[in-house]
Amino acid sequence: MARTDAIVLGAGIVGTSIALHLVKRGLSVALVDRAGIGEQTSYGNSGVIEGSTILPPAFPSSLSGLLRAALKRGSDANYHMSFLPQVAPWLWAFRAASSPARLAETARLNRPLFAAAIPEHETLMLESGATKYLRKTGWLKLYRDEKSFKALQPEFEMAKEFGLPLEALDPTGVQALEPSLNPVFARGVFWPKAASLSNPLVVTRAYAKRFSDLGGLTLTGDARTLHRSGAGWRVETNEGGVDSANVVVALGPWAPDLLEPLGIKLPMGFKRGYHRHFKAQGNASLERPVVDVANGYLITPMEQGIRLTTGAEFAARDAQPTPVQFDRLMPKARELFPLGERADEKTWLGARPCFPDSRPVIGRAPGQSGLWLAIGHAHWGLTLGPPSGRLIADMIEGTTPFVDPKPYAAERFLG
Ligand SMILES: Cc1cc2nc3c(=O)[nH]c(=O)nc-3n(C[C@H](O)[C@H](O)[C@H](O)COP(=O)(O)OP(=O)(O)OC[C@H]3O[C@@H](n4cnc5c(N)ncnc54)[C@H](O)[C@@H]3O)c2cc1C
Repeated sequence: MARTDAIVLGAGIVGTSIALHLVKRGLSVALVDRAGIGEQTSYGNSGVIEGSTILPPAFPSSLSGLLRAALKRGSDANYHMSFLPQVAPWLWAFRAASSPARLAETARLNRPLFAAAIPEHETLMLESGATKYLRKTGWLKLYRDEKSFKALQPEFEMAKEFGLPLEALDPTGVQALEPSLNPVFARGVFWPKAASLSNPLVVTRAYAKRFSDLGGLTLTGDARTLHRSGAGWRVETNEGGVDSANVVVALGPWAPDLLEPLGIKLPMGFKRGYHRHFKAQGNASLERPVVDVANGYLITPMEQGIRLTTGAEFAARDAQPTPVQFDRLMPKARELFPLGERADEKTWLGARPCFPDSRPVIGRAPGQSGLWLAIGHAHWGLTLGPPSGRLIADMIEGTTPFVDPKPYAAERFLG
């Protein structure tokens, strides 16, 4: 049996970043996962370090948008009919958080974490030898019509408020950045302060190796074995029980499996998403992630090929994959970029762990001393892993938190 200062449950980008931050402060730390490091949600994402994200995704505000989603006319969203009764309360809360005023409030509350994302990643990358996977080439969002571009005005105003540069481009301007894109769109917006990774999996693994090199213990075990032991906690692993006064839950979409039996019920929903890899035809190439906003998919260059990721699917976390969005979006993607044959055999499925107010929960678990939460990073867990790691480490160490943690407290969901 081992005794540590902290146990981190879940070795995705969030848990691994937390474990690394804690061990750097001289704490003895065990990082526990039942699978391999970074192999779940943190593997299959679009790889964007979204330093310039402003407004969170919103519930459709127009009847036409709602109908489009309800009738599954677009490729941006999908849902399982049988899941609707279960997800209805979450959707209701998401809708309430989607008013223009609430979206702007969320943008301001999340901003300190987003602002820290790229510098925090760069620090960890430098010490982990992972800088070669970082591309500081920004990201490009494409709009198929002028109307959707004009609707961006509030976001442009907030960008000014946050000091975030952007370039509004016509198709020629977009092609100057990405010559292989066909001009099937009306407008583009280039966000130069975003970055991206060419392989999120190896970056998480590099952070985990740095953690081990600094003396951290990486163990295999089921987080659901967590139980009270004396004044602290114990988790069972393949290497035996580990005791600690502090346990951080960083289980991504699986957090409820541990928390609900402990009486902690938080409104986590899941926006499932898929990816496939493709070869590029001929000499076609991409330098950065590109989003086709109207069709809700993203293409980005990865070491495995051009990764195409889908928008949200509302379905039970563990329901069978239903990658129907590809049928609807592939013609759109192929007209935008000369995608060639598949570069993989399997379609990957992951679940974005989302709270309806689009803010993560980072801080103490309500009613359970010594238990900490770092969950619900939604569309931005890859981005926000390292700043979440710093924040949790500040709180466990008892130093002044580098950002105000109040907006991320779990208590906001409790009566
Ligand atoms: C299609 C798609 C595209 C995305 N694109 C982006 C993007 O471009 N940029 C961005 O910032 N974010 C993006 N995201 C979101 C991001 O991937 C997630 O928010 C992030 O990976 C969550 O990280 P995590 O460490 O919390 O969870 P995970 O990576 O899922 O890690 C949780 C870990 O817990 C472990 N675990 C679960 N249950 C147990 C148990 N019982 N016992 C032990 N271990 C357990 C799992 O094995 C896993 O390793 C995207 C997500 C999807 C689905």
